[in-house]
Amino acid sequence: MSILKGLNAQQKKAVVAPDGPVLVLAGPGSGKTRVLTRRVAWLVLEQEVYPWRILAVTFTNKAAREMRERLEQLLGHSQAGDLTLGTFHATCARILRQEAEAAGISRDYTIFDADDQVALTRQVILELNLDEKRYRPHAVHNAISRAKNELIPPEEYQPGSYFGEIVRRVYEQYQQRLRLSGALDFDDLLMVTVNLFRQQDNVTRRYQERYRYILVDEFQDTNAAQYVLLQQLAGRHHNLFAVADEDQSIYAWRGADYRNINRLRQDHPDLTTYLLEQNYRSTQHILDTAQAIIRHNADRTEKRLFTRRGQGDKTIVHEAYDPGAEAQFIVDTIAELVATKEARPGDFAVMYRTNAQSRAIEDAFIHAGLPYRLVGATRFYARREIKDLVAFLRTAHNPSDSASLLRIINVPPRRIGRKTVASLEKTAREQNVSPWQIVAAVVGAGEAIPALSKQGRGAVAAFHKMVAGWIEARGELSVHQLIDRVLADTGYEAYLRDGSDEGEERWENVLELRGVALEYAGMTLTEFLADVALVSDVDNMGDEVDAPTLLTLHSAKGLEFPIVFLTGVEEGLIPHSRSIDEPEGVAEERRLMYVGVTRAQDRLYITHTFRRPRYGDYETNVPSRFLDDIPRRLLQDGRSRARQRAPETTPAWERWEPAPAAPAARFHTGDRVVHPVFGPGIVLESRGGGEKEQVTVIFENVGLKRILGDFLERST
Ligand code: ATP
Ligand code: MG
Repeated sequence: MSILKGLNAQQKKAVVAPDGPVLVLAGPGSGKTRVLTRRVAWLVLEQEVYPWRILAVTFTNKAAREMRERLEQLLGHSQAGDLTLGTFHATCARILRQEAEAAGISRDYTIFDADDQVALTRQVILELNLDEKRYRPHAVHNAISRAKNELIPPEEYQPGSYFGEIVRRVYEQYQQRLRLSGALDFDDLLMVTVNLFRQQDNVTRRYQERYRYILVDEFQDTNAAQYVLLQQLAGRHHNLFAVADEDQSIYAWRGADYRNINRLRQDHPDLTTYLLEQNYRSTQHILDTAQAIIRHNADRTEKRLFTRRGQGDKTIVHEAYDPGAEAQFIVDTIAELVATKEARPGDFAVMYRTNAQSRAIEDAFIHAGLPYRLVGATRFYARREIKDLVAFLRTAHNPSDSASLLRIINVPPRRIGRKTVASLEKTAREQNVSPWQIVAAVVGAGEAIPALSKQGRGAVAAFHKMVAGWIEARGELSVHQLIDRVLADTGYEAYLRDGSDEGEERWENVLELRGVALEYAGMTLTEFLADVALVSDVDNMGDEVDAPTLLTLHSAKGLEFPIVFLTGVEEGLIPHSRSIDEPEGVAEERRLMYVGVTRAQDRLYITHTFRRPRYGDYETNVPSRFLDDIPRRLLQDGRSRARQRAPETTPAWERWEPAPAAPAARFHTGDRVVHPVFGPGIVLESRGGGEKEQVTVIFENVGLKRILGDFLERST
């Protein structure tokens, strides 16, 4: 039977398990996802279950797409097309489109995304005459979201504190507003579906019949609402097939609860459990490293895991001087392994705990002229807060840059409303001048914009004064001082830091950019902005390129890569400072580290830095406590290897000496060169010398790129 080919005995048993509730409990890389996919194929091909009777729930849309591709190979296009395959949200959205009437919602309901949800929360807070500085929209919305994930409607919300009482009032209005706008938020998709099934037996029965077989991947990360939904759907036929690993539960902060595994046991006394023990992904050294980290968590079932892949390489630990040097080590290592043909660019993944960490890594790739893929996140320079900050600086640099000016004219909100901005733009267009000139004119004579209220005029004048102050000061201030001034004048910090985790992350990104300015202390504003424009202009790196993947540990779930770099493995980052004080918080960080380690197939690098700018200042770092848990025998010092190689890869502090006077350029216009990834090209221009030499090359295959000279070789 071809469906069972390439499965071990335990996996086969799980794939062909008889009807009824099934739990496959197993460690990473043991083939849980493979078993789940094969079971779908087995049900269709061997049990003759109609594909449309099967619902398979994945954790991300990407995972769903991958599963569909595999099933297309196993079942053929048309059968696979009839399967329902997707995330909880996507599945519920589909059910609600079908059952809109029964659910009491409009068939054309719109879905409010994360930004819309917070905007609506803010609006309600203001309408209730509450102070949005005290009751941060993000924080309030988080509390509402948690309630919804526990299926608690506003009228049953039990405020445990004064803040809770505010949440209850906002929640009530928030729901009403959603209804009035014919909209559902993400959490509603689940809650409304569960309520529909609670209230309408006939509808429930239809779906119980339709989805006779339900399969769930990453079950350890289901929340309360999702659990209830599964119970409802499987309530008649009990064919629930869940695969889980409680050690990989990493979404508690979004309401996920791995104790759902125990609930499943209690709710289904006839549950059959299958354990898988062979790991097919990683070498023994990687598994031992992972095991050494996770064993310190309490309340877990110890799982045996073995591999036939051999001992493999030791985990390489590298301490870098700072994030720049850490990123350089990564890029150098990748470039070397690619050059020696030990690996292809797409074999590598670089993982980090927080999104802000990607900046230094992205920069190193960009400066080396190497493409990369960024998963599940916006590129650093495309993030809203970074674009805002850059727009502030651009406005200070050149207020006639109308895109920048219009971007920030009411950010943070300063009562220059949409109407005012629109007539400002219109007037500017009519008079063929920049909006800034109109802003200036408003200050001079009130009638510059027709029908501008006194209040609006005051707001525009205050904005003008602020920007004029920056323009006046910019010559005397260094770039990071100018950033400080901008942040202080605009109140941007308070605007971002609204008490939510997301707000903190955004603020960390701002500090990250400030750190860049601090690093290039000698740079003028013009140079700084030109550099930023250069690095932010690289957006043509789609999925198809053979390039390393950059991603957070959270988004690495379920994936695997031959060579993995875990970066910033430092106290305060992993475990993150936000979770260090609670034991459950540290336990979750440990699971996150475990997920990261177990993504690696052949080789694992763990990097940490000696100092890292945090909150705008440099702080000396302590390596993560999780590193101490790994026995020495599994580790190898990453510096030794680096030292044997080109001098630029030795840790930065060992070459902490004054740069030699103006090293000569190695490349000149017209030189023929080769790049390890881009291939042959011709030099158009070269600037600087030595390590800093920046060469503009036109490549035969990929066109124009600016690259550090170190990555080029002359060819004849
Ligand atoms: P995770 O917990 O990280 O999600 P998993 O348990 O879902 O991991 P899979 O991703 O299904 O594991 O499998 C890990 C790797 O091992 C995949 O590359 C898969 O194709 C391979 N694999 C699984 N079972 C076998 C087998 N019996 N023979 C060969 N390769 C296998
Ligand atoms: Mg999996």
